[in-house]
Amino acid sequence: MKINQKRFQEHMETLAEIGRIGETGVCRLAHSKEDREAVDVVRIWMEEAGLTTHIDGFGNLVGRIEGQAKDLPILLLGSHIDSQPYGGRFDGTAGALGAIEVVHTMKDEGVTPNRTIEVICFADEEGSRFNKGVFGVRGIIGQLEDGELKRKDKNGITRLEALREFGVEPDLSQSPVYKQGDIEAFLELHIEQGPVLESKNKPVGIVSAISGPIWLTVTLEGFAGHAGSVPMNLRQDAFLGASIITKEFNELVRKEGTPNTVGTIGSVQTFPNSRNIIPEKVEFTIDLRDIDLDARTRLERKLYEIIEKTSKELHLEYSISEDTRSDPRYCADWIKDIMKEQDEKLGYQSPTLMSGPFHDALFMSYISDYGMIFVRCEKGISHNPLEFAEMEDMQKGVELLYHTAVKIAQS
Ligand SMILES: [Zn+2]
Repeated sequence: MKINQKRFQEHMETLAEIGRIGETGVCRLAHSKEDREAVDVVRIWMEEAGLTTHIDGFGNLVGRIEGQAKDLPILLLGSHIDSQPYGGRFDGTAGALGAIEVVHTMKDEGVTPNRTIEVICFADEEGSRFNKGVFGVRGIIGQLEDGELKRKDKNGITRLEALREFGVEPDLSQSPVYKQGDIEAFLELHIEQGPVLESKNKPVGIVSAISGPIWLTVTLEGFAGHAGSVPMNLRQDAFLGASIITKEFNELVRKEGTPNTVGTIGSVQTFPNSRNIIPEKVEFTIDLRDIDLDARTRLERKLYEIIEKTSKELHLEYSISEDTRSDPRYCADWIKDIMKEQDEKLGYQSPTLMSGPFHDALFMSYISDYGMIFVRCEKGISHNPLEFAEMEDMQKGVELLYHTAVKIAQS
């Protein structure tokens, strides 16, 4: 291998200690003290790799090495180093540290890039703290929305306050940093977060596309009443509505979705949340995704019918707000071709697979061609301390990333 396996492993192990929970978990929430600590450490590794670094007005950590041909569109590599509140050691970090390892290896090998290369650790990919993620990447491509800095975490801290605490004066006027044509390719390595590579017994995969998620928040409002005194036929039970919608939505996706469609109701809040009061208000999230946009649109329409019908039957008021809507995005054929060619030379015989989860790369795809490399992870578990990927698999993925990046940097 060209990459320095030992150095990459040490970086992975060191980063896993920052915000560590239990033996194998990690909690590095976006813009938190732990996130800042991680950024400071990773920044040193970027500089050791020969990158000039800065933290931008969205909280992204960016490293840059000038190419010989300064007018060529740049090569961008990276991922994120923030985590879920009860997250694992590999999600994001494998790709972020893998990207730095790629540039460091070029330095070790005496490869001077023809194209300028930037490595980026995107701020708040995960989205759990402010219930809206991919903040950093949306910042650089100009997809921020009104009120982004006013969103609050569960302790009432706004993103503005959190970013200041993190040590960044938010500057949304920097958005967009890049426009179409500025970037030749964006490459991201990531753990698969699914069971496909494991089932194929392959350490590495080449991604074909990222399926597009819709995130909705549904609010149902009924009427509270004493659980002991209000007869069943006079109730307006909001939680019952949420339960029926959950069940019917699940059946809809199973029966009428494609093999790639997935639908989840993952967060539910009931009010007043008391054992002897009929739930008056329930708020729940819906996540619906597919690689096939028409199929997803068809199911989304039927989902609205289910919500409408259920609310009517139970005499509930409902409202639906849309938090995220992304179309499926396909990886560039020319990048996949380079990956396949390099993969063949390395003898990995990596399969091609799609990504159900979205990544920073999904957003980069709106202004740049992109490619992704997946690394096998145990049982597809992620967003959990049990998340596990073999070091050897990650090193193989980074090696493929290296050869792909060199090819593009020198073109
Ligand atoms: Zn991730």
